[in-house]
Amino acid sequence: MLKSNFHTHTFRCGHASGSDEEYVLEALGAGFVELGFSDHIMLPGFKQENLRGDYALSEDYFASIRSLEKKYADRMKIHLGFEAESFPLYFPYYQELLLGGKIDYLILGNHYQMNEEKKIVNYFSKIKSAADLYNYRDLALSALQTGLFSCFAHPDYFMSSIAEPDKDVKKVIEDMIGVCIDLDIPLEVNTAGIRNGIKMIGNGVKRYLYPTDEFFSLAGKMGAKCIFGLDAHAPDQISNEESMDQAIFFARKNNLRIIDKLEFKKPKE
Ligand SMILES: [Zn+2]
Ligand SMILES: [Zn+2]
Repeated sequence: MLKSNFHTHTFRCGHASGSDEEYVLEALGAGFVELGFSDHIMLPGFKQENLRGDYALSEDYFASIRSLEKKYADRMKIHLGFEAESFPLYFPYYQELLLGGKIDYLILGNHYQMNEEKKIVNYFSKIKSAADLYNYRDLALSALQTGLFSCFAHPDYFMSSIAEPDKDVKKVIEDMIGVCIDLDIPLEVNTAGIRNGIKMIGNGVKRYLYPTDEFFSLAGKMGAKCIFGLDAHAPDQISNEESMDQAIFFARKNNLRIIDKLEFKKPKE
């Protein structure tokens, strides 16, 4: 049985429901011993309505999770983090949050590319060219190499729109897994992708958007560390047994080395 989860959102992002405490109570009811909150990072000087909370909500997020951490300390370990993109302009801010103890950890969710003017220029759920693909890889690797990230969330997010992996796709997969092994960063088997069910990709391939066998069969062969991430956006998703059973089946099929606790990386000063 799953005993921990480090990928939990809150209502502040605009597309999740429930109170912070409801997630905690659901996790306690499911027998969890650790729960990490990792809402979409709120960024100074940047807004994305309904995708992440406004920066003005950060202090409320920190205070709420820290108070739950204290309140439930004798029953469960609660951690405070963020899911953050590879936005190099914001790496100094990420570092400040971690070094200042505002948060305990970051997980990398490589959803978009941001340019120097803080505009989103690429949506990695819609890869259209080999250039986009290599952008996804290069941004992911530059983020992971900063030492700021403790986990690579849905590392195969870029597969969402790729029906037939070609040699470039295979190369990108192998490169990213190799770097995660070298840096000892676990790859997340994202169960939100499983909860969302089987989808039609392109002209006729049916599978989860992610996680994908293309990615994780190689992760299994290469012996990478993997971890389940619930990517919960509603309290009842903490204890969704059907998707958890499917996730375990997926992990066994791909021969994954599953760890049950995330070690938090601390950046160097
Ligand atoms: Zn979300
Ligand atoms: Zn997430």
